[in-house]
Amino acid sequence: MEEVGTVAALRERLAAARAAGRRIGFVPTMGYLHDGHLALVDAVRRESDLVVMSIFVNPLQFRPGEDLDRYPRDLPRDRALAAGRGVDLLFVPPVAEMYPRTPEVTLRGGEPAARWEGEQRPGHFDGVLTVVLKLLHQVAPDVVAFGQKDIQQATLIRRMLADLDLPITMRVVPTVREPDGLALSSRNVYLSPAERTAALALSRGLRAAALAWAGGERHGDALRQRVAAVLDGAEGVAVDYIAVADPDRLAPVTEAPAGTIVAVAARVGATRLIDNVILGEERA
Ligand code: AMP
Repeated sequence: MEEVGTVAALRERLAAARAAGRRIGFVPTMGYLHDGHLALVDAVRRESDLVVMSIFVNPLQFRPGEDLDRYPRDLPRDRALAAGRGVDLLFVPPVAEMYPRTPEVTLRGGEPAARWEGEQRPGHFDGVLTVVLKLLHQVAPDVVAFGQKDIQQATLIRRMLADLDLPITMRVVPTVREPDGLALSSRNVYLSPAERTAALALSRGLRAAALAWAGGERHGDALRQRVAAVLDGAEGVAVDYIAVADPDRLAPVTEAPAGTIVAVAARVGATRLIDNVILGEERA
């Protein structure tokens, strides 16, 4: 595996690959890799000849007081995991390389960005979209993968590719979970053993909704109540939102056809966790 830290070196390396007719796959991450990130590598590897992964903790998507400074980092471990899974080129730019100056021109996510995470973290998706667009211009991949775990992010990026005419195939990879259901997340390291147990309420609540849907329940509010019943009964879990929504605009639905998203965010101790299911796609 090669590693570069500058946009110039990245472009030089990829120009050679492109000239040789190689298809480029790309996986953007903030590092502290786990099996969810590595499933994205597998997804793009199937469709490309050269796999690029970026590791960049993007200051633009954190608000003051969030966990930017304590976001978990372990580059030596990430290098070993990425190389072991077949990443060909690792791009690890310093902050000054990505933002030599505070950007004056940034993206805005519109309606789907204002909901859910956007309510709790105003400006978050503007930062995400801006850095992802920069990375896509730098790498210019044929195919890029994102995780269903961050479904609002994936929804907005899909819309950005369409609205801004980026000729890139996007894959959304199903959420990778621990055997007990907890969605893998770099932030899970913040959880104490008791919090780790409490956090299972998120996936349990979503599973209850998926089960009800599989049993014929189609009413949006009833499905929402299934999740709420589990989360409200869970000690040490403070719900931020539970949403039953259409997959395009993320607007609440009264009736829930297949493809409807059930999404949840909750604070467990000081850690904020998110998870979701797509009705009709999940094993209930
Ligand atoms: P992050 O490093 O948290 O910014 O995540 C980088 C990419 O990995 C994003 O596209 C995430 O949606 C994806 N991802 C994170 N956790 C998971 C997971 N448990 N399963 C699948 N993809 C994930």
